[in-house]
Amino acid sequence: VEERFAEDFAVRAPTSLRLRERARSTLVAPTHMDRYFFPSAFPVFVREASGGRVRDFDGNEYVDLCGGYGPHLLGYAHPDVVAAVTEGVRRGQVNGVGNLPEVELAELLVAALPGAERAVLCNSGSEAVLLAIRMCRGARGGRAKVAKFEGHYHGLSDQGLVSSWFRFAGERDRPEPVAGSHGADPAAVAGTLVLQYGDVPGLERLREHADELACVLLEPMPTSVVALDPPFLLALRRVCDEIGVPLVFDEVVSGFRVAYGGVQSVVGVRPDLTCLGKVIGGGLPCGAVVGRAGLVDVARSTRDPFQDYERKVFAGGTLSGNSLSCAAGAAVLRRLRADPGVYARLEAGTERLAGALREAAGRRGIACRVSARSSIFSLTFSHRPARLYRDRLTGSDFKATIALAYYMRRHGVHLPELHAFLISAAHTAEDLELVADAFAKSLDEMTA
Ligand code: PLP
Repeated sequence: VEERFAEDFAVRAPTSLRLRERARSTLVAPTHMDRYFFPSAFPVFVREASGGRVRDFDGNEYVDLCGGYGPHLLGYAHPDVVAAVTEGVRRGQVNGVGNLPEVELAELLVAALPGAERAVLCNSGSEAVLLAIRMCRGARGGRAKVAKFEGHYHGLSDQGLVSSWFRFAGERDRPEPVAGSHGADPAAVAGTLVLQYGDVPGLERLREHADELACVLLEPMPTSVVALDPPFLLALRRVCDEIGVPLVFDEVVSGFRVAYGGVQSVVGVRPDLTCLGKVIGGGLPCGAVVGRAGLVDVARSTRDPFQDYERKVFAGGTLSGNSLSCAAGAAVLRRLRADPGVYARLEAGTERLAGALREAAGRRGIACRVSARSSIFSLTFSHRPARLYRDRLTGSDFKATIALAYYMRRHGVHLPELHAFLISAAHTAEDLELVADAFAKSLDEMTA
């Protein structure tokens, strides 16, 4: 496929190719795809982005389904975000001092999520996860083990990466932890108990390890397979209550995307802590841990710094709660709050597009599976449905998924090569039709 497109791409997007070559001599990984998985053969260098579209330096316009990998739920350059950031810069962005946007964002978060009474702000989803785990360890008298679920990604920390992507080990009903990165501390692997999402009997293993566990951490709706299992989440909540171990929802992707109040508001399961990121920064770096006062307050200072070092969970960060990220995020949340119909529209667009993709593949007899919900799409070329990440890894054709992204690019759609793709509130019916049409054309070309 790469050979087939190389010439075409060199003619259509020469500047993107030139920029990639230029970037390579200094930047180890010029794009998200390089940082996470592999260097894209046909990266798009974006000159401008607005609404649901991005434009490169050679005049190509793409309907964009990367969505910055999550933050841009309202689309690029939303007027509310542009206004908030412009005003924030004009006033002088500040950090480390008291500022109104930080207080306002915290209030919006606490009001939105059923499980939230307090908030701590930070700079990314990864930091949020790291802090949540530390808070739980602090509250649990130093018990350190983390229970997590196979295939759930929780950011770049050694702990967050364990058994997240592209590798798995052990039996399917008794998975073993594996390191998520070369160079990661092996202690993170040894200190992790890995379970399977949806496996209620498997939750018994939590009881076996109850005395060692700091917390149970999961994506309540795993992004990699886009499957939601409310009875499982209820069962998990029950077990956590019985053994007295805090339940941490990583809603970095799903928070304010699946619903204003996150997955927890949809399924009626209240976690002890919730990790947030992406949407809450309006496209600027931002993360948060929100949750039960009794837990989040472990990060609150007393008046005595010497005592603090014994009892307080450290949650500092130079740019944490900076006025600009918070103003951008608060602008997005206010817009979402003022327009609750946005979620029904996103869901309708998701269903329509998923239906069109399934139909196009079905008509051509192509084994393609689309799981989609609340603006998040997972598309694989495989014969069997994959409820578990390991089934998806072993049972689907990743080369075909990557090739699809390249074919789609030729038809004006920017899909991530290897990632769930996302629609935004700014995508029009016309944008989604263009995607469906490009998909049908791409399948024809792929099978020609
Ligand atoms: N948690 C989940 C579920 C994520 O998808 C991500 C990022 O993709 C993170 C945590 C980490 O967030 P960040 O990339 O902002 O550090």
